[in-house]
Amino acid sequence: MFKRLATTDFQLKIVLLYGFFSAAIITPFAVYRFLTGATAVGILDTCIVTIITGIIVYGWKFGKTERTGQVLVVVGGFGALMSSEMLGVVGLFWMYVAIVANFFLTKNLRFATIFTIFIMILLAVTGKSFADAAQMWSFLATGFLLALLSFIIAQQYSQQRQRLEHLAMVDPLTGAFNRRVMEQELHMAIEEHARKSTPMAVILMDIDHFKQVNDLYGHDKGDFVLSSFADSIKQNTRQNDRFFRYGGEEFLMLVKNAKPEEAAAIAEKIRHTTEYSTKPGMDKVTVSLGIASIMHGESCEHWVARADAAMYRAKQLGRNRVEL
Ligand code: GH3
Ligand code: MG
Ligand code: MG
Repeated sequence: MFKRLATTDFQLKIVLLYGFFSAAIITPFAVYRFLTGATAVGILDTCIVTIITGIIVYGWKFGKTERTGQVLVVVGGFGALMSSEMLGVVGLFWMYVAIVANFFLTKNLRFATIFTIFIMILLAVTGKSFADAAQMWSFLATGFLLALLSFIIAQQYSQQRQRLEHLAMVDPLTGAFNRRVMEQELHMAIEEHARKSTPMAVILMDIDHFKQVNDLYGHDKGDFVLSSFADSIKQNTRQNDRFFRYGGEEFLMLVKNAKPEEAAAIAEKIRHTTEYSTKPGMDKVTVSLGIASIMHGESCEHWVARADAAMYRAKQLGRNRVEL
């Protein structure tokens, strides 16, 4: 169990651990309320513990992090609201916990913000939690500051996470996805083909005589050719097609839902665009491309090796051409 928690995503970890500890901490309060005759609050606490337990079991089993987190936000918010209504200031302490939790249990900060404001307005309107107006305004002011701080930290965290995810997926020079992402996506494509027989193809492409580009114009110009080649491909392909840097001056495109002739048309367009896009002060740059349409039951390595063999044939047959 702990091993799975260690490998699971950070968001799910927060949701599960927060849910687990909330249920564990509220349970003795429920017992205490029943023992001291505060049956209504005891029932409320028991309901909250039961619902939270159900939610974390669901989250653990199905890994639906976002949905689990959002339900926890709602349960925590209304739980704290009802505790405040029933217990007054003692219940309000829980509202502070709920406010912070709202911004970390869900990635949807808009939802967290709207829900937090909604609960605080509800609390102020019903008004039973506060002894006087001064108490209410003090709570609203401190609650608002806490919500603001939580929002800022959660937003910073979310931006950094997205930046890190981007860095881990994308090749910095060309902006194409890296090989790690390529392997994952090719495996997913193979699974999709096995399930739905979706036609798929990979186009492997290798810039011709690229060593000469470096030798003649320098490594920086070589880098420029690579990045502008990648840019022109990204601009000229369908939204659904995935473009990866395979290594050095070799790139791979995964074309989904495309029959062999459609993949060939895409490859020909890439070849043509590359040949006719001018690079100031340089000879024309060309590319050789090999296509392999997926075959039933074949491995990822075999599929790419067939595209590689086709690309090698294109080189043998004179470069600047497409081979199937
Ligand atoms: P072919 O037409 O047979 O593909 O010939 P080629 O010269 O393109 O092939 P080769 O594999 O011999 O050379 C590839 C060159 O690509 C060698 C390497 O220095 C260069 N290269 C690989 N990665 C980069 C890079 O990131 N930037 C630059 N500038 N050059 C790179
Ligand atoms: Mg090469
Ligand atoms: Mg080459």
